[in-house]
Amino acid sequence: MLVEGAVLDAEGARPSYVRIAHGMVVETGVIGTDSTRGKERKIHGIVTPSPVNGHTHLGDAVSTREPPNVSFSELVAPPSGYKFRILAEAKPGAKRRAMRAALDRMRHEGIAGTIDFREEGEPGVRELRRAAEGTGVHVVILGRPVGRPRESAEVERILEVADGIGLSSSREESAEVRQEVAAVCRAKRKFYALHASEEVREPPDAYLDPRPDLLVHLTCAEPSDLEQVRDAGTSIAVCPRSNALFGRRPLLGAMERVGNRVLIGTDNAMLQSPSIWRELEFAYVTSRLFHEPASAMFLARAALVEPWRWLGQEERGHLVAGGPAAPLVFRLPPDDPAYQIVTRATEHLMVPAARHAAPITDAESVGESDE
Ligand SMILES: [Zn+2]
Repeated sequence: MLVEGAVLDAEGARPSYVRIAHGMVVETGVIGTDSTRGKERKIHGIVTPSPVNGHTHLGDAVSTREPPNVSFSELVAPPSGYKFRILAEAKPGAKRRAMRAALDRMRHEGIAGTIDFREEGEPGVRELRRAAEGTGVHVVILGRPVGRPRESAEVERILEVADGIGLSSSREESAEVRQEVAAVCRAKRKFYALHASEEVREPPDAYLDPRPDLLVHLTCAEPSDLEQVRDAGTSIAVCPRSNALFGRRPLLGAMERVGNRVLIGTDNAMLQSPSIWRELEFAYVTSRLFHEPASAMFLARAALVEPWRWLGQEERGHLVAGGPAAPLVFRLPPDDPAYQIVTRATEHLMVPAARHAAPITDAESVGESDE
């Protein structure tokens, strides 16, 4: 298949042709110089790398009703918020089916992977591993210890099957626990992440010590906090639709100005669909609504480029011949590609032949399900 139009990837946006075979890029270059001599199916559109969802809680997908209109903590705070009661009451099979359905939807939308905070300890991580089998969506699972008091044995058990640990927040875990969890993650070359400044502003010295690989939300952060996060070299995952449900928003314009490394995610699957395309449009429009616009390019990178960099697989955000990036093709006008993708992309505009990307192989892949 030959696509003439534009490419949008780690190098930015540019007019180009892209030849795709078996879901991979085999040739790119200046439009009109391809080797097909008119003998291949030709499409006009935009080619991007497959996105990664920067933050999900897929376990929540088991809840399908409109969530009650209660305070933030009554809804999602551990250990007894509405969400945690639903998780505790649901049978493992039901949770697994719900997570699988969410992952199937992601695959249909061209999503290559997701970075998931999986609650419920080691069994929770195993459930998600099992749910993801054969879906073609790569799940990076950050598990969460549930035992109180915290025990290092549980963290060790979780890390045998998870890609890292995703803690609730520095308000809920002592400095001692955070130090220990982060140290074990470092030693095992796994990720250490946590939510931060979501409901109230927290001091950066708390959530940045020990230094996490990823902070989620930062909705209540001051611009100077964002500078501190940048200087620490920590990436941020933002979830604008989820924040909006509680009357909050990430400071996307400030993050862009400050130069933060930002990923975009869809957060709790009980609150909204895991659709990165909907999230991008909402992020773009609401940043305008609050008179602090983030550029379409900044947001596009948060879905298509930054997660790959964060995962240590930078080349998957770069569309070059023979490279490992799995291309997505959209029937969209090639002018201003970032704007087109951020405001108009939906799975309905994806060209099916290029839609099912090759599965991601992760050199450091851990925890193949043994159930
Ligand atoms: Zn979260």
